[in-house]
Formats: sequence, C-alpha cells, structure tokens
Amino acid sequence: MDINITKTENSRLKDIDFNDIPFGKYTSDHMFIMDYANGQWSDFRIVPYQSLQLDPQSKALQYCQCIFEGMKATIGADGIPKLLRPDLNIERFNCSAERMCMPAVPDELFLSALKAITRLEINWIPKTEESALYLRPTMIATESSLGVVPSSTYTFYIYAAPAQPYFTAPVKLVTEQTLIRAVPGGTGEAKTGGNYAGSFKSGQLARQKGFDQVIWLESPHFKKIQEIGMMNLFFVIGDTVLTPELNGAILKGTTRTYFIDILKQKDIKVEIRDIYIDEILEAYQAGNLKEAFGSGTAAVVSHISEITHGDVCITLPNTKEAEISNMLYNEINGLRAGIIEDKHNWLTPVY
Ligand SMILES: *Cc1c(COP(=O)(O)O)cnc(C)c1O
Repeated sequence: MDINITKTENSRLKDIDFNDIPFGKYTSDHMFIMDYANGQWSDFRIVPYQSLQLDPQSKALQYCQCIFEGMKATIGADGIPKLLRPDLNIERFNCSAERMCMPAVPDELFLSALKAITRLEINWIPKTEESALYLRPTMIATESSLGVVPSSTYTFYIYAAPAQPYFTAPVKLVTEQTLIRAVPGGTGEAKTGGNYAGSFKSGQLARQKGFDQVIWLESPHFKKIQEIGMMNLFFVIGDTVLTPELNGAILKGTTRTYFIDILKQKDIKVEIRDIYIDEILEAYQAGNLKEAFGSGTAAVVSHISEITHGDVCITLPNTKEAEISNMLYNEINGLRAGIIEDKHNWLTPVY
C-alpha cells in the first residue's frame, strides 16, 4: 500500500507542554485519511491535521452513519512505539461497520494506516509511563442525499492525541431506571456516535444529583446489569471476578477482553454471565462484595466507591485494598512500559 505523505511546515509540537496534556485537548500534527467510492478504498494519504469539508446534507451529519475506535500507541524504554492488540480494535471496527451498513476496512490496510501515522508522529508519543498517544480511527458517511438508505461514499481517517495518565478519583454511581443506552438487537454493540449522544442525558441527570455516572440496567425490568457510562463493568465477589456476558446490548471492550484473558492466565476464577443488581446487593449485605470497577482504554481501570440503587447505597472498600483491579491496571501498564514480559505477543511493534 502506498501512502502519500504531505508533512506540515508548522509543527505544533514545540508548543505542547508534555507535563500538561489533558485527555483529548491537543491533536498531533498529521492525520491519515482515505476515501471510499465505487466499492473500494483509495487515495491513501497522510496530511497535516485539518478540518474536513462535508456537505451539510451528508449522511454522517443527518443520520449519524458514523463509527469510531479508541486505542493507544505507547513507547517503552526501547524507544520502539507499540500498539496493544490492534487486531481487537480492527475486528470491532469492522463489526461496527457491518451493523451500520458501512464498508469494511481490510485488516492489513487498517494496520498499515495505524502504523504509518504512529511512525510519523513518534515524537508525539509521551514518554512518561502510563501516558500514551491516543489514536481515533473514524469512518463517516459522506454522501449528500436525504434518502433513508446507506451512503455510497465514505471517508476513513485516523488522528492522534497525546494523553497523560487519565487518573480519576473513585466514582460514585447510580443505577439508571428510566433511560436506556441499548437493548439487544439495537446498536449498543457498535461503537457509533449516536450511542453517545443518546446517553448524555442520563449522565447529565446523574451529575445534577451528585453522582459521576450511571450503571445501565436492561429494559424493561431494570434488573440486569449492562455497563457504566461508556465502560464495561466488573465485580469481585468473594474470590470470583464477574462481568456481564455480551448479549447484543453491551460493547465488547478491548480492555474487558485483556482483563478476562489476564484473569484466566492467572487462574483467577472469572464468571462471564448475566448479573443482576439484586445479587450485587445481596453480596454486599453478606459482606462478600470486595471490588467494583469499570474498564476502558482511557483510564484502563476506573474504581467505584459507591453504587446507589433506589434508596440503598453500596459502599465499596478503599481502592488501595482493591487487589484485582490494581493488579489488572499494573499488568496493562507494565506490559506497555516493557516492565512486564510480553509472553503472549500482545504488543505490535511499529518500526
Ligand atoms: C468504547 C466503549 C467501551 C470500552 O471499550 P475499550 O475498548 O475497553 O476502550 C465500553 N463501553 C462502551 C459503550 C464503549 O463505547
């Protein structure tokens, strides 16, 4: 694959203070971009980061036919950039594309594009441990037409944003018993913008009541646990780790997959099944609920300090004692930093 590279004459790198790079605040100098028409992808190029020109009537804007991914490129002591299991992101992206009637991006083309932009932006990868260059592969429908059928043309791009460690204080959650993010058969399994827009209201209401985020429960009974905000969810009850089974309404988080694989490798008991809020309450009342945490690319682990369900409030133990979630966090960051041996070839080097 030939990628035409046009470099910027005005790098913004010198203006960035790498000790102060809040998640998503700065984008790097360049972006990868390619177009789809007549059944094929073409015009592979890297250009200076720039605005897109879109027809006001394009289907991405009118009908939200758009999908994205989020992943990290990191650089360890050996100075070689690495991607963590990019195959999982590529596979999920193409599942999202399938659901939204968008064309697939061939795996090899996708990986070459990820490597090309990472290679060119190597100086944008923060070097301090737990920092990363966040990559955002995105596909949007560009055809201008109000017809309620899929677009015939698309643009795919990958841009990058340097990010310092995304520390969050343990979060206070409330179960959502009115609004829903997704139902089996809906678009909850696809990483598509509309799922996010549709969830803003619920997050806003939760914050107004003094919570950080919501726990999504499955309609119509509002008993079965799905996710928290835009993260997957884990519980530790006794010596067993639990996470909801994918059922068509839950996004298949890459971090969720890393965690399940690490737990299995370490012979820690893990149950992937339907989980109900009532059994979490029972475990809490019996003194068996040890940990609850969210998983996602940005924070890796998001500790939970409280869960409010109706008029009951569950208080979780201090997160310093959270053995499982701290272990998982350290495994992922240690692997990326080159401190923990990459026994299963999870890291893809970018030469
Ligand atoms: C992106 C996302 C996640 C987390 O996925 P990761 O690959 O672990 O970052 C979880 N839930 C939803 C709804 C998401 O959109």
